[in-house]
Amino acid sequence: MMQKDYELIIAGAGPSGLTSGLYAGRAGIKSIILEKSFNGGQVLLTDSIENFPGFAGGIQTYTLIENITRQVKDVAVEIKQEEIVHIVCDSEYKVIKTNNSEYRTKSLIIATGAVPKAIGVKGEKELARKGVSYCAVCDGALFRKKITAVVGGGDRALEEALYLSKLADKVYLIHRRDKFRAVKVIQDRVLADKKIEVIYNTNIIEIQGTNKLEQLVLENVIDQQIKTLKCDAVFIAIGLIPNTNFVSDIVKVDSNGFILTDDNFQTNISGVFASGDCRKNNFKQVITACAEGAIAANSAKAYLDTFLQ
Ligand code: NAP
Repeated sequence: MMQKDYELIIAGAGPSGLTSGLYAGRAGIKSIILEKSFNGGQVLLTDSIENFPGFAGGIQTYTLIENITRQVKDVAVEIKQEEIVHIVCDSEYKVIKTNNSEYRTKSLIIATGAVPKAIGVKGEKELARKGVSYCAVCDGALFRKKITAVVGGGDRALEEALYLSKLADKVYLIHRRDKFRAVKVIQDRVLADKKIEVIYNTNIIEIQGTNKLEQLVLENVIDQQIKTLKCDAVFIAIGLIPNTNFVSDIVKVDSNGFILTDDNFQTNISGVFASGDCRKNNFKQVITACAEGAIAANSAKAYLDTFLQ
């Protein structure tokens, strides 16, 4: 198979990878972005973003991604829908095999993001798409005027609860502790929302139903009391799993699979960088994913400058 040569390959077309593409293109680096599914990634699980600077009143995530994609194409960076299946990094040139091509590149940025984590209880897999969901924006409309539940205490769970409260008759927010992790501004909105009822100190231990979700089995973590809660849907928002399986035997990752990097976002392999939600960092926002993408592209440029000497 003929190898196609690039100076930089970017894995992933979420906010981080697209921003790397934008900066690399503007720096005149011959680059391509490889994306296994659709541009945008998990940011599209959210309807709109209110905290992206410059967009007072918020911006639809779809519009934001469409705009960045246009900026990337304007600087002549290609975006291809291909899945990376194998990477070889044993020389200065890295070989990237996808489901239908083979590429050779001097540098690589891994920006493959993350996917929602599952709880791992009985009934979760069996009732997926029959009431169990990981995305209120995608599936919430199916449960208009119904009884819904959300699990988690982070930004995403609370945002999902607020989104659902505009559609459903009732939203139970089930959290395993008595304090939320989400930012205060979202907490205040949730606590003021009359349709949302918070159930603290509680875990879901089973999801029950025949052909569709009928009830959740809940356990109070303080007194171990078991209760059932009738509902039509449960939205699980308990954190993220990085999309790093395809590189976890090549680059160093932490115990949860997030890629470890230095301050320039370079991994343990020279010329291989990581940015955004797949990288081990403390703050996962669209704005930080974009910023990390810009920094990774700048680091790749510095690497390519030394490579050429
Ligand atoms: P997160 O911040 O990691 O929070 C996960 C939540 O789920 C925590 O409250 C955690 O409980 C709970 N949890 C974890 N495992 C659980 C389990 N097995 N059973 C029950 N509960 C469990 O995850 P996230 O909310 O999905 O957000 C991911 C990242 O995206 C975060 O960095 C977040 O800030 C960011 N984000 C930002 C925005 C925004 O700024 N607009 C929106 C969405 C997401 P404990 O608190 O007890 O650990």
